[in-house]
Amino acid sequence: MKMPKVRELVEAVKALTHPAYTSRFPYQPHVPHPNFRGQPKYNPDRCLGCLACEEICPAEAIAHQDIMEKDTAKRLMIHYTDTCIFCGCCEDACIADHLGIKLSNDWELAFFDRSAAFESIEKELQLCEMCGEAIACKDHLTWIAEKLGELSYSSPTLYQSRLKGLGVVDENLLAVSRQYGRADRGKILCSRCRRATTLTTAPPPSPSATQPPGSFAEGGRG
Ligand code: SF4
Ligand code: SF4
Repeated sequence: MKMPKVRELVEAVKALTHPAYTSRFPYQPHVPHPNFRGQPKYNPDRCLGCLACEEICPAEAIAHQDIMEKDTAKRLMIHYTDTCIFCGCCEDACIADHLGIKLSNDWELAFFDRSAAFESIEKELQLCEMCGEAIACKDHLTWIAEKLGELSYSSPTLYQSRLKGLGVVDENLLAVSRQYGRADRGKILCSRCRRATTLTTAPPPSPSATQPPGSFAEGGRG
């Protein structure tokens, strides 16, 4: 009979006296390593609905669906857990400081019904106030306006989005727009309607007939 080597005997004694290296799953819940790369999860409070993660995903595991019904305008951001390869590109590309979607330590992905292998979040959509088409998610417009700072005031869509996000409507802007027959210019519009209102607005009436009280011309700017 072949005798065990001393090293093997030492290993056997160690194994008897040391705790197990493996976890006791399924009798105890398994806690993955902190660097474990598990299923990506959306954070509905940080995601802006910008679709950058959908664009970058190499496995086409992310999709979106715009739902526009009466009194409802929302974008569903959908992550398909059965096609995701956990590469982390979505987290890398996320414009919301990489916090809109993040790899988690969720590793329990078994399912019986493949059609249920997805997770989704909802984001509120901003619709064009003329044609009703989706422009972008409200959080995304606000994010752009904040990034642009004072430059956002050159775009009524961004400007109004920002004010409406703060719960403020700029009545001065709307009043001046109405005065000059250009009320549509002050609305939140998609690029097509913005172009149409810009090109088709009638020329403003003569200043003497339409000078609004307290306007720039009356108060003097310089
Ligand atoms: S981890 Fe990779 S495959 Fe999975 S959703 Fe993100 S980008 Fe797509
Ligand atoms: S904010 Fe991030 S998670 Fe949300 S849609 Fe954009 S890239 Fe994806």
